[in-house]
Amino acid sequence: MSSSVIQLECQCNNYPWGKKGSSSLAAKYAAATPGGHFKLDESKEYAEQWMGTYPTTPSLVLATGEDLQKHINSNKEKLIGKAILDKFGADLPYLPKILSIAKALPLQIHPDKGLAAKLHKKDPEKFGDANCKPEIAVALGKFEVFVGWKPIPEIQQLFTTVPILKSRFTKSSETHFNGETLKEVVGKILSASDEEIVELYESLKKTEVKDFGKHTYFPELLPRLAEQYDKSDPGNLVALLTMNYLVLQKGDAIYVPADGIHAYLSGDIVECMARSDNVLNTGFCPRADRDSIELFTAALTFSPKNADEALLKQKKSDKGLKGHTQVLAPPLSEFDMLITKLKGKETETIKALQGLAILIVTGGKGKMRAEGKEHEVKEGYAFFIGYNTEIELAAESGLEAHIAFAEA
Ligand SMILES: [Zn+2]
Repeated sequence: MSSSVIQLECQCNNYPWGKKGSSSLAAKYAAATPGGHFKLDESKEYAEQWMGTYPTTPSLVLATGEDLQKHINSNKEKLIGKAILDKFGADLPYLPKILSIAKALPLQIHPDKGLAAKLHKKDPEKFGDANCKPEIAVALGKFEVFVGWKPIPEIQQLFTTVPILKSRFTKSSETHFNGETLKEVVGKILSASDEEIVELYESLKKTEVKDFGKHTYFPELLPRLAEQYDKSDPGNLVALLTMNYLVLQKGDAIYVPADGIHAYLSGDIVECMARSDNVLNTGFCPRADRDSIELFTAALTFSPKNADEALLKQKKSDKGLKGHTQVLAPPLSEFDMLITKLKGKETETIKALQGLAILIVTGGKGKMRAEGKEHEVKEGYAFFIGYNTEIELAAESGLEAHIAFAEA
């Protein structure tokens, strides 16, 4: 009889925006797991640790080295439960990750289901699945992010007050910005030549702070972004001029819907998304890596947002029987996430979930009891928790866990 609590050995990828060596939390977590496949190299960037079964970076069953998805496939009904099997099939329907971000990730959107299906058919190599990918990001410390659009009046204020923007982008007749104006402006920035972008950058650098209104971060962020990629990268301007810039603290979370524009800038986070790896990039990356501007702007949802709309609030969860567990429940997504926080020697019981879960320990250490067995847990350990399995977490001196789960 196979166990429903399976410790995982997870892998890291090396995207160039990741933090280096042991300064990367993703790498630290991969190295913390016994198993030994992962060798930390201080000269390498470690961007993302994946805890799931997406085929490019699959997790392994620690005890046997078996591929997790293969293991699930041979114990489907027991590990996933019939309802989830019927709804999503045997493949893990979501993918949690730890991200360690040293510099901006490409400015990106993830296509919605309709577009993803089209792209996957046309170019299956580049778009590896036909799924959409709403995602959440939970800060494990200070986390800087560009997400969604600034409210239209704020964008209008910038494009009618800052002299260089006024002369380049705004017709004198334009006194009222709307979604169409925003789409035009973003399209213009993205299709400008390198020289034009550099010229805009230099003018913005000389612009008086007061012209940026409430966006007082321009003088600091403009050169910082330009240094990460290049002065000629249009991502600098799209992000600063049209998107919300947020500085989040530990525990804060954002939700990015399918088609929502976002670029993570710095920090360590837990991220979770539907099972998909489709992305359209357009800035904060070399020109050759950018997707077509038409494709990108066509896929964008230009319904303007504000910063508050992007924030996802934690609520107390009744899954934690002793009251130490909060839940993040993103709308229209395959998964929710529990966050259990224990002080001192506190314990928490997570009631049996009617689906499957991935638990990642994000702080402290202690024990996890389930099925009459006891498992050691400490920061960096990750577990698959099968269908209908109650677990008890007992802290030794504080313990924190993020648990992504799906119930049918
Ligand atoms: Zn993303």
